[in-house]
Amino acid sequence: APAIALTHVSKTYQGGVRALDDVSLTVARGTFLAVMGPSGSGKSTLMHCAAGLDVPSEGSVAIDGHEIGRLNETRRTELRRERVGFVFQSYNLVPSLSVADNVTLPLRLAGRAPDRDWVTTLVERVGLAGRLAHRPTELSGGQQQRAAIVRALVARPAVVFADEPTGALDLRTAHEVLDLLRDLVDELGQTVVMVTHDPGAAARAHRALVMADGRVVDTLDKPGAAELA
Ligand code: ADP
Ligand code: ADP
Repeated sequence: APAIALTHVSKTYQGGVRALDDVSLTVARGTFLAVMGPSGSGKSTLMHCAAGLDVPSEGSVAIDGHEIGRLNETRRTELRRERVGFVFQSYNLVPSLSVADNVTLPLRLAGRAPDRDWVTTLVERVGLAGRLAHRPTELSGGQQQRAAIVRALVARPAVVFADEPTGALDLRTAHEVLDLLRDLVDELGQTVVMVTHDPGAAARAHRALVMADGRVVDTLDKPGAAELA
């Protein structure tokens, strides 16, 4: 099964806004997909439906082969915890916890014991081995986002959703973090869906979608920054 499959998905919010209009989309495993488009074009709604945070008004969504329309809210939350990771613009690390405790939180929330070797591998790979005992406020923005990336990957999710992951970073740090994320995607065969406004960020993805008015209006394989700007 693909990591994500959307089939004729539409989403109409209360009040009548049609945020998604008949979107069909398959994201193969191992793909780093960027979702672009102007504000209000439906990017967040697409991400929330694809991540099982919200349910479409019409059509179906399958995550790792599991159709979420068939699941109740409790099972959907379980599916997310088991198979989906998230990276946010604002990092969303817990300030009172060490880096070590932050990155293993998804496992502990899911009632699973952290695989120490895997955690160590990821932490070393992103260059945070010396920072495990630090609190998030003692890290730079780039380091906090590296910790958030480890947290997103720690449970070996089928797919990671990243919502403007570099929106709070300066351009150089942003592109360093994205190069790292792309290298991790390639090394692990990880699937990542990233919403971004930054053509330089999208250019680091394997594939980019451009949305407008709730529809996918363009798809680019191996996008370059120039054609996305
Ligand atoms: P983007 O992420 O591209 O900015 P969104 O998915 O947030 O786009 O929004 C798409 C459309 O849906 C917009 O017109 C927005 O105002 C509307 N919308 C988003 N969320 C809601 C909501 N909870 N209730 C009503 N309308 C919404
Ligand atoms: P619960 O119902 O157990 O409180 P949540 O739905 O709050 O679970 O969160 C489950 C997962 O979804 C968590 O990993 C959380 O980080 C993520 N999540 C919750 N809300 C959002 C959101 N608005 N956007 C992106 N991810 C979210």
